[in-house]
Amino acid sequence: MSDMPSPKPCPICGKPAVMEFRPFCSRRCGDIDLHRWLSGGYAIPAVEQDESENEATAPRPLGPKPER
Ligand SMILES: [Zn+2]
Repeated sequence: MSDMPSPKPCPICGKPAVMEFRPFCSRRCGDIDLHRWLSGGYAIPAVEQDESENEATAPRPLGPKPER
């Protein structure tokens, strides 16, 4: 019954977001999200790099093959 646009809730604390800090309710929540992003973004490629490095050091995935 109302044409009022419902503001999206802050993804961090769930409070209604503020225009100035969209999509967050405050700068603090934006900072929290940014930190999450950074820590997550650093953690994921770090693991992938480790894995590919492991593969590079193991050229024989099938193990030693006795050849005569
Ligand atoms: Zn918030």
